[in-house]
Amino acid sequence: MIIFNRIQELQYQLNIARKAKKTIGFVPTMGALHQGHLALVQRSKAENDITVCSIFVNPTQFNDLSDLEKYPRTLENDSKLLQSVECDYIFAPEVSEMYTNEELELKRQKIEDNGWKQGKTVDFGMLDKVMEGAHRPGHFNGVAQVVSKLFRIVLPDKAYFGQKDFQQLAIVRSMTKQLGFNTEIIGCPIIRESDGLAMSSRNVRLTETERNVSPLISKTLFKVKEMQATHTIAELKAFAEAQIQSEPLMQLEYFEIADAETLQPISDYKQAKSAVACIALKLGNVRLIDNILLY
Ligand code: AMP
Repeated sequence: MIIFNRIQELQYQLNIARKAKKTIGFVPTMGALHQGHLALVQRSKAENDITVCSIFVNPTQFNDLSDLEKYPRTLENDSKLLQSVECDYIFAPEVSEMYTNEELELKRQKIEDNGWKQGKTVDFGMLDKVMEGAHRPGHFNGVAQVVSKLFRIVLPDKAYFGQKDFQQLAIVRSMTKQLGFNTEIIGCPIIRESDGLAMSSRNVRLTETERNVSPLISKTLFKVKEMQATHTIAELKAFAEAQIQSEPLMQLEYFEIADAETLQPISDYKQAKSAVACIALKLGNVRLIDNILLY
C-alpha cells in the first residue's frame, strides 16, 4: 500500500496502471474509517485491479464550521485499517492541494462556487432541494465539487458510495452523468453496528448515554418498513416522529418518505415505484442520518 499526498504522484502511478490495462476502483471518504468504509474498499478490490481510497475532510461541504473542526481525523489508524483490507493506494491530500485560496474564500463568503462546473451546466433540479439539501445549504454543491475534482484526478472505472448517504448517491450519479465522467457509480448497502446503529465516523462523538439511546433511530426505521404494508404514509410519519420525539436527547430535523429515484416526498404509495424513508436528527451535539428502502 502506498500513501500519496500529491496529485501528480498519484496520477503518475495510476497512469502506469492504466497503460498496463489495469482497472481502477475508487472509494472517496473523509477518513475516521469504520467497517462501512472498509466494505466499500473490499467491494472495489473484488471488482478492480487497483483500488484507491481517498481520505480528505472536504471543507466546502460543511456548512457548520464547528462540525468541520470537530470532524475526527485519524489518518494513522485509517492507514492500518486500509492495509488490513489490502487497499492499494491511499490519497490523503492537504486542503491546499485540492483547492485554490479563491475557491476557499468563495466558500467562506457562502458564495456557491460554480467554478467546478468548468463551463458545463450542472443542475440538480429538485434533487438537492429536499432533505439534506434543504437542511444543509451548500452541502451538495461542496460534495459535487470535491467528487468531481477527485474523479478528474483518479479517473476511476468504478466508484463506490454507501447508501447510508442516499441523497448523496443520487447527487453523485447526476453529477457523473452531467459532466460525462466515464465512471460507473456503485451504491453499496448500509453497514450497521450489531444493535442497528448505522456506522458513521460521527458515532465516536456520542457520549455513552447518547450511544445507548441511539439504536432507537434504526429501530424506528425497521418498524416503519414493517408497518408500510398496513399503514398510510401519513401514519408512518406520525409514528416515526412520535418515536423520536419520545427521546429527550434527540432532536428530529426531518423524517421523510420519498421517491427513491427523484428523492421528492410522496404522500401516497402510488406516487413512486420505489420509496425510501429518510431521517436526520441531532443526538446531543452530533448530527446523524439514516434511511431504509421501503419497497
Ligand atoms: P464519509 O467518510 O462519511 O464521507 O463516507 C465515505 C463513504 O462511505 C460514503 O460513500 C458513505 O456513504 C459511505 N459510508 C459511510 N458510512 C457507511 C455505512 N455505515 N455503510 C455503508 N457505507 C457507508
